[in-house]
Amino acid sequence: MHVYVATRNVGKLAELKDIFARSRIEVLTYDGYADVEEGELSFHDNALLKAQTLHQQLKDTEIEAAVIADDSGLCVDALDGRPGVLSARYAGADATWEERRRRLLEELRDVPNEKRTATFVCYMPLILADGKTWMGEGFARGRITREERGAGGFGYDPIFVPNGEAQTFAEMSEEKKNSMSHRHAAAQALLDACRGLLY
Ligand code: IMP
Repeated sequence: MHVYVATRNVGKLAELKDIFARSRIEVLTYDGYADVEEGELSFHDNALLKAQTLHQQLKDTEIEAAVIADDSGLCVDALDGRPGVLSARYAGADATWEERRRRLLEELRDVPNEKRTATFVCYMPLILADGKTWMGEGFARGRITREERGAGGFGYDPIFVPNGEAQTFAEMSEEKKNSMSHRHAAAQALLDACRGLLY
């Protein structure tokens, strides 16, 4: 089953392709997709908005196709859940990922190790050509490091260590991160929810 993905984030796209490689979903991109102006809504509502936007864009160009989207972010307990839905815009819309990580480490400078807990969140909707919709949600719990480690992944990966692991997401192989990430968990939940349809 071909499914268009509503993202322009190359890091997410690579992971989604890998995660769905073992399912019956083949992930396609649509060059005309422009990222929507996200509100400060919830991950759930932002994810749905992205999927509905691409679904409508495709319809307008007479492509009747299924769509998935991903809204995700990092919720830090010591910051009352920030940056959360604003993860991609933390430290300013034009900041680089390196600047965002540095800013986060700076905000947490005086927070002791045991209070540096955080959760990566991902909401992933699937909208079929006929409009039928499912939603998967996934979480990865862990803690924020004191310095960056690793060159893999994207975004906040170099400063996040998942529970039970010693490496940051950025130090892990792609395969290892994708076996335990919030994105993997959301995709799995989505596939479970619509199993009858896809298997
Ligand atoms: P959005 O879903 O487009 O709002 O962007 C989510 C933002 O959260 C990304 O730009 C990253 O900064 C961050 N993020 C989401 N998932 C991950 C991940 O797996 N690793 C690192 N950062 C992530």
